[in-house]
Amino acid sequence: MEKMNKLAVIGYPISHSFSPLMHNYISKQMNAPYIYEAIEVAPENLKDAVGKLKSENFCGFNVTAPHKIEIMNYLDEISLEAKRYNAVNTVVNRDGRLVGYNTDAEGFYMSLKYRGVDVDGANVLILGAGGAARPVALNLAERNIASLALVNRTKEKAEYIRDYVLECSGYAIDTEILKDRYDIIINCTSLGMGDNKDKTPLCDLSLVDESTTVCDMIYNPAKTVLLADCEKKGAKIINGLGMLIFQGILAYRIFTGINVPDSIADGIEKEVLGV
Ligand code: NAP
Repeated sequence: MEKMNKLAVIGYPISHSFSPLMHNYISKQMNAPYIYEAIEVAPENLKDAVGKLKSENFCGFNVTAPHKIEIMNYLDEISLEAKRYNAVNTVVNRDGRLVGYNTDAEGFYMSLKYRGVDVDGANVLILGAGGAARPVALNLAERNIASLALVNRTKEKAEYIRDYVLECSGYAIDTEILKDRYDIIINCTSLGMGDNKDKTPLCDLSLVDESTTVCDMIYNPAKTVLLADCEKKGAKIINGLGMLIFQGILAYRIFTGINVPDSIADGIEKEVLGV
C-alpha cells in the first residue's frame, strides 16, 4: 500500500480554503512528509468521496461546510466530543477505520488563550445560535466561567442550545442580556461578512468598555464593523483567524501524532496569511 502521507480538506465550495497553505506550511516547518490538498465535494457525492479517500489510503482529512454533520453517517467511529458538538471537522484513517473528531471549539478556546484572554471567572456573552455557536457555548460552559448568556434573533434556537448545554454539562445559560457588562463578547452570527458585511450584531455598545474582549468568528473581513466599533471603545478585539489556525494545528496533531507547538501560529499568521 502507498505510504500514508496524503491529507486533504473536503467542502463545497472549497477554492477559498486556507487549509492547504496552512497544513503544508506546518509540514515544512516540522520537516514532515505530508502533502495536503483541497478537494471539492458536492453534497450528493459525499459518500463516494469518503470511500475514495479511504481506498486511496489518505492519512486523514478535514471536513468543512456543508458536510460537517452529514459526514458522521460515513465514519466508523466518532469521538465523544464530536458527538456532543454534533459535527465533525477532522477525520483520521486509523488502519482503515475512519474516526471523526471536532477541533473547532477547542481551536476557538486556544485562540483566546494564545491572545492572553483568560476565561476563568469571566462573564461571557455569545451572539448567535447557529452551527458555530453551539460547540463554543458547550466548550465554555465546561470551563470555570462565571456566567454565560447566549442571545439570538430567533429565540427558539437560543433556547434549544440552552437546553442542550444543560443536558450535556448541567450548566445553566441565560438567553437574554441580563448584565450591564460582559468580560468576553463573541459574535457567532454571520453579521459582518458577505452580504452582511456592513452590519453588526451589537448596536448597543454600552456593554463594551476598555476591559471587554470582543471576539468575532468571522475572519474575512479581518476587522468587522463589530470589531471596529468595539476597538474605538477601547476593547481588546480578536477575529476568527486564530480559531481557524488553532483548529488546524489541533487537526494536524491528530492526523500525524506530531506535537506541533502552539507558537507555530505566529508563523502561520505572518508567512501564510500575511497578517
Ligand atoms: P449559521 O448556522 O448559518 O448561523 C448563523 C447565525 O447568524 C444564526 O444565529 C442567525 O440567526 C444569525 N443571523 C444571520 N443573519 C442575521 C441577521 N440578519 N440578523 C441577526 N442574526 C442573523 O452559521 P454558523 O455556521 O454558525 O457560522 C456563523 C459565523 O461564524 C459565520 O460568519 C462563519 O463564517 C463563522 N465561522 C468561523 C469559523 C472560524 O474558523 N473562524 C468557524 C465556523 C464558523 P437566526 O438563527 O435567527 O437565523
